[in-house]
Amino acid sequence: MQTINIQNLRANDIIRKCVHCGFCLATCPTYQLLGSELDSPRGRIYLIKSALENNATSANSLQHLDRCLTCRSCETTCPSGVEYGHLLDIGRAAIEGRRPLWQKASRFAVRQFLTTPALFNTVGFLFRHSRIQTPVVKPKTVTKKVLLLSGCVQPTLAPNINHSVQNILAKLGYEVEQTPQKECCGAIDQHLSAVDEALKKIKRNIDAWHTAEVIISSASGCGVMVKDYGSLFDKDDEYYQKAQAVSEKTQDIAEFLADKDLSVLKTIDKKVAYHSPCTLQHGQKLGGLVESILQQLGYMSAPVADAHLCCGSAGTYSIFQPKLSKQLKANKLNNLTASNPEMIVTANIGCLMHLQKDSKIPVKHWVELLDN
Ligand code: SF4
Ligand code: SF4
Repeated sequence: MQTINIQNLRANDIIRKCVHCGFCLATCPTYQLLGSELDSPRGRIYLIKSALENNATSANSLQHLDRCLTCRSCETTCPSGVEYGHLLDIGRAAIEGRRPLWQKASRFAVRQFLTTPALFNTVGFLFRHSRIQTPVVKPKTVTKKVLLLSGCVQPTLAPNINHSVQNILAKLGYEVEQTPQKECCGAIDQHLSAVDEALKKIKRNIDAWHTAEVIISSASGCGVMVKDYGSLFDKDDEYYQKAQAVSEKTQDIAEFLADKDLSVLKTIDKKVAYHSPCTLQHGQKLGGLVESILQQLGYMSAPVADAHLCCGSAGTYSIFQPKLSKQLKANKLNNLTASNPEMIVTANIGCLMHLQKDSKIPVKHWVELLDN
């Protein structure tokens, strides 16, 4: 992992690209809600620059950075290619030391709870969203073996998602090996600025996964993190090559299925609305892909207003910023249900659980529509 100086150099490179045009303000969910420059991408870039250059950090700066969803909608809009997500990680890590002790303790507790299956599973099953709904399918002829990332909370909350992925892939002739639940991708630690903890998990995963031929993710929040492993190491780091390999071999399930013949899959007659997770459309730059697969399979999916905006789930955001998160969820559900769909589908467990809590209609992962 880079030292703080290398991180500063990298941050400077990113900051230099910003021409202060302000285009990103129009698509930033927190700027839309709060109307304050310091809750916009441009304002936060300014705060990070001050923190790195002058060590100028106040409780206010921490609050404005904490309010950022890390949705990366600003990256999609930015004409100068500012890698805001990477800059935010650096900025947050640099000012983490200023956080009050009680906040550090609560963030530590949430991280440990969510990423330790022995802890999470004791309570997580009470919030189970869906049980396995179809029999296990075995491939008739195996053409290739793929590694499926289980995720740390998804197997407990919605086991039917990876079950559906496994069945779909079996029908297409793929044998699936699933990673153990304890192999968390590191995203929760990374986003809560527990950089060392994240790095431990990431290195462990790289050692375990780098020989796989194809790595598939069914949770876009994990997929975006694993695709980023390659950028976390210096070229002379012993993990650099292996990290690059893991990132390059990782695909969201939508990417993997996009060029396959899906005619063997049965579909159901449902009018659905699709919620595109930020981690898929802005993080992985795969906006429109799931929509086109659903359309190809005959699902009616009406366009959703403000589809580029975050639903407010954003990892642990709904825990630490409940007010803003709820506002974003209410707006998102209004837009998703405007066409009276029978079901909402999405591509990330965090969004799914968050939306389902206040949705009157079922919310599912889109792959569940393909396993009948
Ligand atoms: S981040 Fe990009 S869009 Fe936003 S002000 Fe800077 S250059 Fe403009
Ligand atoms: S990541 Fe999202 S919330 Fe944060 S500044 Fe960019 S658009 Fe705004």
